[in-house]
Amino acid sequence: APSILWLRRDLRLSDQAALVAAAAAGPVIPVFILDDDTPKHRRMGAASRWWLHHSLASLDASLHEKRSRLILRRGKCEEQLALIAAETGARSVHCLRHYEPWWRNAEKAVAKQLDLQCHDGNYLLPPGSLTTGGGTPYKIYTPFWRALKEHMPPPSPSNRPREIAAPDKWPASDMLADWNLLPTKPDWATGFTAQWEPGEAGARKRIAAFADEAADYDRCRNLPSQEGSSRLSPHLHFGEVSPATIWQRTADAGGSVDVFLGEIGWRDYAQNIILQFPDYGGRSARAAFDVDLPWRSGSAADADLAAWQQGRTGYPIVDAGMRQLWATGWMHNRVRMIAASFLIKHLLLDWRLGEQWFWDTLVDADYASNAVNWQWVAGSGVDSNMFPRIMAPLTQSEKFDAAAYIHQWVPELAELTEPAIHDPESFGQRPRSYPAKIIGHREARERALAAYDVMKAHG
Ligand code: FAD
Repeated sequence: APSILWLRRDLRLSDQAALVAAAAAGPVIPVFILDDDTPKHRRMGAASRWWLHHSLASLDASLHEKRSRLILRRGKCEEQLALIAAETGARSVHCLRHYEPWWRNAEKAVAKQLDLQCHDGNYLLPPGSLTTGGGTPYKIYTPFWRALKEHMPPPSPSNRPREIAAPDKWPASDMLADWNLLPTKPDWATGFTAQWEPGEAGARKRIAAFADEAADYDRCRNLPSQEGSSRLSPHLHFGEVSPATIWQRTADAGGSVDVFLGEIGWRDYAQNIILQFPDYGGRSARAAFDVDLPWRSGSAADADLAAWQQGRTGYPIVDAGMRQLWATGWMHNRVRMIAASFLIKHLLLDWRLGEQWFWDTLVDADYASNAVNWQWVAGSGVDSNMFPRIMAPLTQSEKFDAAAYIHQWVPELAELTEPAIHDPESFGQRPRSYPAKIIGHREARERALAAYDVMKAHG
């Protein structure tokens, strides 16, 4: 009997433990189910759908090279898998484990009906497997990473199976084009196409390009004007490459590659947090942030949110980041921190509004990584409370040498040079086409700290 390979965020053939197990057992039916119901409001955002379309097309092409194919279905996973099993006589379903709360529920529902075999491989270590000396899961990154490193390197990645036997009869499949995952009008994704190559082959190219530079990672990663980081995040999110493969390809680079591997560790850490706090994307771990902090609301707050989303805050570094996000589906990490801090503290808007915007616009939108980073910037999370540490965006912009980055993304400021480019208004050089600062830095800082005091007073 054939086995079903149930694919989700693991769209690869190499180092794919579920595929290895299914292929060893006989014919394989690779299946991807677009399930917009189970995740509810966590259905994939628009930028992720763009990526998904191209990644599925790429995976299907790779499967065809093996005389296999990808079956596409839409609906509830447990229902579709049961239908396919009935249609083909498949006995088992193999998958890689996923930790988003809706995927854990879906796995439970499938296991009630079918023989579901879950495998590991999307993380350096299976989330939940590390515990502190006291036997509880880790909540803080540094000790987590120290403990995880003891188990490294990860097991050698496996090759793609030489053969993937086809079943006697293929079940029906949707047509990818009918899923309408790509934008129609307006087509906001033209800049995505120039920047990215979704799929396993694209991921391999990124690793090859980055492996030569990994040694210099620590010096370059904070400089948005340079391509100092790997840009592997969407490939990792969609599982087009395993973290074990990245480890194997980069760990010997020397220099500051350990800092890079530590970032891969942040990805594991985030999943461990989600496992402990499934609501982390929608609820502050420090509950007072949701209850007592006087976040702004109303029409002025809505207008400020829109200005932030559109990159029209009058703070060039923030605006450059938000426009890079809109144009390419990605934003530099340092600028993500500055832009997130700006929304939360300068605009005093609930971090969850920013989390939702990122969810819709990032090609690497990841429930765990997004929530953990937003809560980290807000100070509402399980680790240290950063709220009173208010980043000064203009100082950050200078410190991290963002002039070329601003030139690239904010064309209104093309004529400006340093230092005015970081703060055109204060230098009296703001062009009329560029918005005035939405709020002054000192005023914003005082407002944020006052709001923080209100929350503390309630506590
Ligand atoms: P590199 O610097 O090359 O790092 C390598 C890999 O490590 C990344 O591809 C990513 O998988 C992982 N990684 C790096 N930094 C982090 C981090 N802080 N947390 C978790 N994993 C990390 N990353 C996402 O993948 N998805 C998100 O939805 C996401 N939302 C974020 C929201 C905010 C407010 C902030 C501040 C950060 C967020 N990040 C998110 C983390 C980080 O910004 C991106 O992973 C990184 O910019 C991706 O670029 P890169 O692949 O070049 O990273």
